[in-house]
Amino acid sequence: MSIVEARTPDPKKFLKGATGDWEIVIGMEVHAQVTSEAKLFSGASTEFGKAPNANVSLVDAAMPGMLPVINEECVRQAIRTGLGLKAQINLKSVFDRKNYFYPDLPQGYQISQFKQPIVGEGKIILDMPDEQVEVGVERLHLEQDAGKSMHDQHPSMSFVDLNRSGVALMEIVSKPDLRSADEAKAYLTKLRIILRYLGTCDGNMDQGSMRADVNVSVRRPGEGFGTRCEIKNVNSIRFVGQAIEYEARRQMAILEDGGKIDQETRLFDAVKGETRSMRSKEEAHDYRYFPDPDLLPLEFSQAYVDELAADLPELPDDKKARFIADYGLSAYDADILVAEQASAAFFEQVAKGRDAKLAANWVINELFGRLNKEGHEVATSPVSADQLGGIIDLIKAGTISGKIAKDLFEIVWSEGGDPAAIVEERGMKQVTDLGAIEAVVDQIIAANPDKVAQAKEKPTLLGWFVGQVMKESKGKANPQAVNDLLKQKIGIE
Ligand code: ADP
Ligand code: MG
Repeated sequence: MSIVEARTPDPKKFLKGATGDWEIVIGMEVHAQVTSEAKLFSGASTEFGKAPNANVSLVDAAMPGMLPVINEECVRQAIRTGLGLKAQINLKSVFDRKNYFYPDLPQGYQISQFKQPIVGEGKIILDMPDEQVEVGVERLHLEQDAGKSMHDQHPSMSFVDLNRSGVALMEIVSKPDLRSADEAKAYLTKLRIILRYLGTCDGNMDQGSMRADVNVSVRRPGEGFGTRCEIKNVNSIRFVGQAIEYEARRQMAILEDGGKIDQETRLFDAVKGETRSMRSKEEAHDYRYFPDPDLLPLEFSQAYVDELAADLPELPDDKKARFIADYGLSAYDADILVAEQASAAFFEQVAKGRDAKLAANWVINELFGRLNKEGHEVATSPVSADQLGGIIDLIKAGTISGKIAKDLFEIVWSEGGDPAAIVEERGMKQVTDLGAIEAVVDQIIAANPDKVAQAKEKPTLLGWFVGQVMKESKGKANPQAVNDLLKQKIGIE
């Protein structure tokens, strides 16, 4: 692999050792399960959570004489993913056999792509808090998943579940462009968002549809790359961060002690928060890759690629840029809204024809806050976009105050209904009738002569009076009118 130094060292990210600074270098290999009903080379189902060996065809079980037949849907999804990663699509690619023995691999080899992958170089842009980082994608190739050995079902026997055997995976390999645990987490998060937008992988790390192998090395800033260790199969974004923090410090301590790093494969122990050795480079397999004689090279036309490109959904970076430009949102708010397509669509429906910043505020702070608390998704939100829009319309029209709007939101959340009708029926309208407000203001002033005297000296006490009037009016008085009247009556400029 040709390594081009893409980044200049940034002291903010250095690890401080006893003998000076160290820079962390990270590259990731992500295995993403292709969203498709059938496996890569057989018609067996990919449905999650079925009984062991329920989803196994003769091909997946590697019965003699069975031939793999490429699933075109998986190819289509890999090309779409490549396009989403702004990558080179290779019109010709080759499936190879990666030979090794393992009980959960009945073929005795994994069909993968080695020298000629379906997708070449691409990139992923990370929006870090104070900079934008471009991470190179080295390649994306298609391969089969293996089965699963089960050792905890019986005291003296192990079983094999081949449900995953032959399921299509996309291995997405980054360049060693990441320089901190935060960047690595942001990379995985962003990749996951892109895959979900494309609908090419559901990104469920807890179901194993997305797993990361994390390569970590450390070096003195400005020097060449150090020896790396590869932490296998990390299955959550948080664990990726923890594994990197631990591993970088472990390597730094060894090097500062005058030792050297052995290139090895390690495992992350989530309970202890540590990585530990699994096998060293010396024990590494020689896979004896060769082109699979059962499969022709994979070929398709540029016209097919163009057709898929024309059909891609709006991707997160573009959507974010549009939200900032068209709706005047902050980058921060836009990031939150584009993290899921459903959230972005919900927001756009609320914002349509309305004050977009107010809409973003209500969607992010009130609605998402509440959805998170109750474990809801946007898709199952008890308050629809139209209902939320209705609440915002009532605020904008001055019919209800911001405070009443929150009460109204609660009512719509738990009881449903049309916001305007609820306000009408329950007498929640803001009182803008000056006479009615004035009566309450007079009453509060009359009841608190000492405070009135104090407020003349100390105008900040006005807030207390506003609070009293609002309380007395059950939040329905127009706050601006209350403020104006109080100033006038107490005699504050
Ligand atoms: P392999 O042939 O073992 O798969 P690659 O050269 O393809 O190795 O790299 C695998 C992953 O390791 C890539 O994600 C790459 O960015 C990363 N990587 C390579 N060198 C380093 C290094 N010195 N430190 C950290 N990561 C690295
Ligand atoms: Mg590798």
